Amino acid sequence: VWEYAPAPESREIANLKPSYRMFVDGEFVDGAGEPLKSINPATEEVLAEVSTAAPSDVDRAVQAARRAYDEVWGRMPGRERAKYLFRVARLIQERGRELAVLETLDNGKPIKESRDVDVPTAAAHFFHHAGWADKLAHAGYGPDPRPIGVAGQVIPWNFPLLMAAWKIAPALACGNTVVLKPAETTPLTALVLGEILQQAELPPGVVNIVPGAGDVGARLVRHEGIDKVAFTGSTEVGKEIQRAVAGTGRRLTLELGGKAANVVFDDAPLDQAVEGIVNGIFFNQGHVCCAGSRLLVQESIAEELLDRLRQRVATLRLGDPLDKNTDVGAINSRAQLEKIRELADAGDAEGAQRWTSPCPVPEKGFFFAPTVFSNVHQAMRIAREEIFGPVLSVLTFRTPDEAVAKANNTPYGLSAGIWTEKGSRILWMAQRMRAGVVWANTFNRFDPTAPFGGYQESGFGREGGRAGLAAYLATGDEGTGN
Ligand code: NAD
Repeated sequence: VWEYAPAPESREIANLKPSYRMFVDGEFVDGAGEPLKSINPATEEVLAEVSTAAPSDVDRAVQAARRAYDEVWGRMPGRERAKYLFRVARLIQERGRELAVLETLDNGKPIKESRDVDVPTAAAHFFHHAGWADKLAHAGYGPDPRPIGVAGQVIPWNFPLLMAAWKIAPALACGNTVVLKPAETTPLTALVLGEILQQAELPPGVVNIVPGAGDVGARLVRHEGIDKVAFTGSTEVGKEIQRAVAGTGRRLTLELGGKAANVVFDDAPLDQAVEGIVNGIFFNQGHVCCAGSRLLVQESIAEELLDRLRQRVATLRLGDPLDKNTDVGAINSRAQLEKIRELADAGDAEGAQRWTSPCPVPEKGFFFAPTVFSNVHQAMRIAREEIFGPVLSVLTFRTPDEAVAKANNTPYGLSAGIWTEKGSRILWMAQRMRAGVVWANTFNRFDPTAPFGGYQESGFGREGGRAGLAAYLATGDEGTGN
């Protein structure tokens, strides 16, 4: 047992300030809401105080976005908008080290992930959409596609900077303006993105960032001044937002939860599959909407695969998220840790067999050791509910038909994985699995050119690629779900 204390220089690299303010109409201003404290989940120490938006601040942000849309951004030629987006992309790269360390401090994710995934993918998203801004006429949405207007966007805490980039870049590329609400436990990198937008001389009001809890999000998505709602978060809140938006004529996209099946056939390259399973569930502590949280393994190789998997998981290093060798960092909040514990305990109670990695677990901070449940049955809560933590549920199957039936036996439908050497089987499975993304012999690969989004209770609409533009064009049709 050891206590983790972050090196003092990490605060300097992250340019950590004692307090952060809202970004409205091109300025950093105090909100009239009750300030929140953002904490480092690896140490439970307060990182910074963050001002939050009162209802009047949300009104102000929406008005600023409306004005910027009417007077500047909605009329600006695409080639001009592209210049700003390219600038933002380059500035994210230039400030990459600062952003990566800040993200790891605020979120708890391993630095190698913020450095190699979150920050570069956020920059890539701006580069990609900068490329679209002056080519919208060729995107297949008519010769002169028009923006929708003002977008109200609400994002979760698992990829705080990346989710902000996923939301802001396509909206701006298509000519919309934005009011974004980051998650209450991870507002810092979104606010630094605000600094970057200022540095890029984005016209005031084009993007506004209003921190706060769910009440601020609820106010934003119901605001009469917005034309489009984009939400990423839990299915429960997504459904509530869908009800609130229904009948308003406002456009809506929802990116919600998941319970993805990662299906391993007996001919799969097992070493590669083990790496894919580990990446699928332990990447970002399993705080991933498309995490491969249900392993479906063909019965004939189940024992061998489980042995190899446990051996591999036992080598994962858990702990200091700022250590470049750490594989599994901190759980983002105490509430999330408790939710994971509760579901894992339900696994025990329902008769599944728990195996926990023997890695040491720090006493302070929110940590949960990588866990694999075997003997899992479809009716158990750990097979049905999203755990959103480093917990894998292992089920078995005999035939491809049974694999498809079990994979689809979920109210969700965001992603799935297939491991087999047979190309024909990949196609057969992919056509039958109800999932927005199906990976073959890989998992958790993200690319701004590829559309991402769900079926059923995982939501609707796509982000990324040509399909993602539909969500921000008046001539696009992502489906309102109303
Ligand atoms: P959450 O739904 O609790 O919160 C998400 C955001 O919504 C936060 O900013 C929160 O403050 C805000 N919010 C809460 N209540 C609200 C309300 N009534 N009205 C408007 N906004 C409200 O989810 P979370 O715990 O932050 O995130 C985890 C969930 O997000 C998981 O279910 C995960 O699967 C999902 N997720 C989905 C994707 C995807 O692309 N499909 C990506 C990441 C996370």
